[in-house]
Amino acid sequence: MRIVQKYGGSSVATVEKLGQVADMVAAARRRGDDVVVVVSAMGKTTDDLIALAKKVSPEPARRELDMLVSTGERVSMALLSIAMQARGIDSISFTGSQSGIITSDRHFDARILEVRPYRIEDELDRGKVVIVAGYQGMSEKKEITTLGRGGSDTTAVALAAALGADRCEIYSDVDGVYSADPRVVADASHLPELRLELLQEMAEAGAKVLNAQAVEWARRSNIAIHARKTGDSVGANGHPEKQTVAREDADARARAVTGLGRVVCASASDVGLLAALLTELRVPALDVSVDDGGQARAVLPLLNVPDWPRCEAALVAAGVTMSEERSFVSVVGDGLLSEGRSLPMFLRSLRDANVMVHAVRATPLRLSAVVATSAQGDAERALHAALVRG
Ligand code: ADP
Ligand code: ASP
Ligand code: MG
Repeated sequence: MRIVQKYGGSSVATVEKLGQVADMVAAARRRGDDVVVVVSAMGKTTDDLIALAKKVSPEPARRELDMLVSTGERVSMALLSIAMQARGIDSISFTGSQSGIITSDRHFDARILEVRPYRIEDELDRGKVVIVAGYQGMSEKKEITTLGRGGSDTTAVALAAALGADRCEIYSDVDGVYSADPRVVADASHLPELRLELLQEMAEAGAKVLNAQAVEWARRSNIAIHARKTGDSVGANGHPEKQTVAREDADARARAVTGLGRVVCASASDVGLLAALLTELRVPALDVSVDDGGQARAVLPLLNVPDWPRCEAALVAAGVTMSEERSFVSVVGDGLLSEGRSLPMFLRSLRDANVMVHAVRATPLRLSAVVATSAQGDAERALHAALVRG
């Protein structure tokens, strides 16, 4: 079997944890599998590097940020390869560009366009475990890029597709996908199976357990994602007792609550102008709508916009009205509009929890509200109690 395993920042936060990961990879190799491992930067390294850049200048250029933050994954890939070799396992580490991850040139939020994993294939043929730095790639112009926060998941799924892997295993500090963030909603329930379509809605709306671009790749390439916890032991079949398997043809219905911090609502009288400005400034939009009167509104997530003050000033100068920073809470599930009761319950439960709602968006797969940042946790708990548990 050929498997791709991805270990997140918390799984490689210390040398001890890195050693635990090396043991897990060694066990998979000894079971006879071909293994490609994708690693994130250790612990909070990426945050620390961004903070360091902001100490040097309040508005670092996105290209230079990419040069800086891509070093985080380079450290962990080299250390993990050293740890593998210390365990007697033949291994080699590669950066994103050495792995053939070709991306768009949109710095700090690039998209993978193509994967040319020739060097990985060669080293697998030589019997080596290949360790790849997640979250990074290279544009056609040979510029180093990064894939947006949480982007190591995307590296893993895109590589699994390009290598024709039998499985993509994503290891983090939680044993799968839950009906809400277990750190926010104490009685969130484990989802053993999930359709990729719903997982993508969840990821786009803030469930950070898996990255949205990664799920999009899984859907396109028909890859099953196994979300697991680092350190959970696996049985003879190579599977742990608890995990979430997300695949395109799973028929399991899910209802889950998500929350996304740091969004702003932009409003303009000309949707064409708004769209052109967002493209030029490289600011992504989560939702865009236009009403009868021609008023355009967009919800903008700021996670991958490191130079937001500059972008905001340019939007305001062009006549776009901007809200303060808020949060975006959602319920994700099947047929949320067709049975008619969900939207009224959604609104009522937010009202009963005294959450002030600034905007609402509803689609068959997702009901969302823009709320004050201070109310995000209460909103998630109220929606989970009413629409998931209730
Ligand atoms: P990694 O560093 O391994 O990539 P992340 O921190 O990106 O891990 O993602 C794992 C975290 O995602 C969990 O600790 C959990 O708090 C959060 N999370 C948010 N929503 C969910 C959800 N629906 N199910 C499970 N975890 C979730
Ligand atoms: N290290 C990067 C981040 O912190 C990528 C990742 O963890 O997936 O966003
Ligand atoms: Mg992550």
